[in-house]
Amino acid sequence: MSIEITRRCPLSCPGCYAFADDHLGDGASLTELREFEGDALIEGVLALVDLHRPLHLSIVGGEPLVRWREITQLLPALEKRGIHTQIVTSAVLPIPIEWRHFRLLNLVVSIDGLQPEHDKRRAPATYQRIHQNIRGHVITVHCTVTRQMTQRKDYLREFVEFWTEQPEVLKIWMSLYTPQIGEMSSEILPTDVRERVISELSALKDEFHKLELPTGLLQAYRQPPSNPSRCVFALTTQTISVDLKTKVKPCQLGGTPDCHQCGCIASAVMEAVSRHRLPIGIRTGAIYNGSRALGLCFKSLRETRSSLFLP
Ligand code: SF4
Ligand code: SF4
Repeated sequence: MSIEITRRCPLSCPGCYAFADDHLGDGASLTELREFEGDALIEGVLALVDLHRPLHLSIVGGEPLVRWREITQLLPALEKRGIHTQIVTSAVLPIPIEWRHFRLLNLVVSIDGLQPEHDKRRAPATYQRIHQNIRGHVITVHCTVTRQMTQRKDYLREFVEFWTEQPEVLKIWMSLYTPQIGEMSSEILPTDVRERVISELSALKDEFHKLELPTGLLQAYRQPPSNPSRCVFALTTQTISVDLKTKVKPCQLGGTPDCHQCGCIASAVMEAVSRHRLPIGIRTGAIYNGSRALGLCFKSLRETRSSLFLP
């Protein structure tokens, strides 16, 4: 499960999908939704978690650190429930030092390119601020590769090398820019460039141990799901927006994402798992499909039964 805990964000990244007109579908816009804070937010998030009982919760934004007080109170409650929590942040604000004690917390910092490009793109979350704000923490770097990062030889190598050397960094994840259908932005990777980037990442992962990109995941970048109904990630993950009610569909990107060009690391991980063949020769995805069909069947039975007993 993924929760957009706030829409507030001091950044204005080009290609930000959160504020796109069709992010939520149905003509609704993120800026029109009611947003919670304080106890109402804490209680609302815990109510959602207790209802859906996710194994993993991603707290995203906007910029989640805007709600650092509420998250500080949520973390012990989530840890007590055994939920693995991931906070996806730009590290534009200080990260409370007490967060480093949570065993089930993964802090993911979005860093898009080397300093000159990143600082231009993601100011005020500059390299300097990131360095200050991650001190004392253990983080995962997440970079979304855009076309701009492919125009100079060895750009990706320099990026991976730089962040591998930082003591706070445990892992580096690389996504590829995923456009909406019909989008024409300069971030998009043309097919041949995309293939070249995947090959380059495949070589870099053998050289830099912090770069976490298993072969199955890279294969999923080569062959993403053809549409949301074939995307294990979209089918298994709920994204709830700031009113703690509205569902972002078909996946966390919202709108009408171009699945053929999907480069979302979360989706690729799920695809890699579902395409994995167990020693008995069955794909994990086949088991998932069977279990999902059974779950839907029970759900429908439950709903039919309750409608029969309704006054
Ligand atoms: S940090 Fe995220 S929410 Fe904020 S502008 Fe950038 S992409 Fe959008
Ligand atoms: S995660 Fe990727 S493949 Fe899945 S629905 Fe979204 S854009 Fe499509």
